[in-house]
Amino acid sequence: MTRHEQIAPDGRLRHLLDLEGLPRAALERLLDRAQALHADAYGGTALRARLAGKAVCNLFFEPSTRTRSSFRLAATRLGADVLDFDASTSSTKKGETDADTLRTLEAMGVHAFVVRHAVDGAVAALSAVAAPGTVLVNAGDGRHAHPTQGLLDMLSIRQAKGADFARLKVAIVGDVKHSRVARSDLHALRTLGAGEIRVCAPAALMPGASELDGCRAIDGLDEALHGADVVMTLRLQRERMEEGLVPSIEEYRRDYGITAARLRGAAPDAVVMHPGPMNRGIEIDADVADGPQSLVLRQVANGVAVRMAVLEELLA
Ligand code: ASP
Repeated sequence: MTRHEQIAPDGRLRHLLDLEGLPRAALERLLDRAQALHADAYGGTALRARLAGKAVCNLFFEPSTRTRSSFRLAATRLGADVLDFDASTSSTKKGETDADTLRTLEAMGVHAFVVRHAVDGAVAALSAVAAPGTVLVNAGDGRHAHPTQGLLDMLSIRQAKGADFARLKVAIVGDVKHSRVARSDLHALRTLGAGEIRVCAPAALMPGASELDGCRAIDGLDEALHGADVVMTLRLQRERMEEGLVPSIEEYRRDYGITAARLRGAAPDAVVMHPGPMNRGIEIDADVADGPQSLVLRQVANGVAVRMAVLEELLA
């Protein structure tokens, strides 16, 4: 299945695999719905019947704190039965394939899968072997995409800065090359018409030119931050990195770490974002992460509402 087939011919969303190719109207509909769901996302009970009788499986082949917990809360608050599958304690350790794992769970009546996987494209590959009517949500595949993170990031920006993205200068800083979050954010920012997208990374962590379409690639942090309205920083993804890409952590922090002093170069009301988990003192300093300009916990909170909106759209 190609990413474009995540949309049915009638415009309905069949799966959520990628934000690339997702039309602006569909993206904005999900953001509007997430915004409207806020009261129910944080403890309301009004929607407990919405997905009653449906089963949602969190199928995680890679670690997760925020994404897995918020999908679980989202599905629970919509009244679904939730199954948490942890690959590290499952029969995948005995050699069972991903496709057989999926079919096994489908045979138990599970028709919605939230999948995280270390391999790029693994969720789209599973959607190709899934039964008709089974719904797949990509919860992060390799370096490729993390569409619900992209949505919650856009919702967080919209709440802080308003819906007119054309006014915004957005700087994405750090390990862009290995970041599925950055890829999904870039697609969403382009779709929403962000005024200026700056991508700032050392050469070894800069993605290829085809991925930087419509962006300004900038090597120096001060230039990238200058007057920026939104500063997104990213975790240094050492688990996806060949040795030696970053000369030393100290140099990386010196050149690309978001410190309070560097942030003064951004717009005075700039907001700072990080998808978590944070390496405090490397890509972001603790006083910035915990400071008044930080949206970090707002991003986490928005994750529940966004994931409710996605599950509702796919399953209700
Ligand atoms: N939690 C995000 C992800 O799974 C970001 C990260 O791990 O750095 O992609």
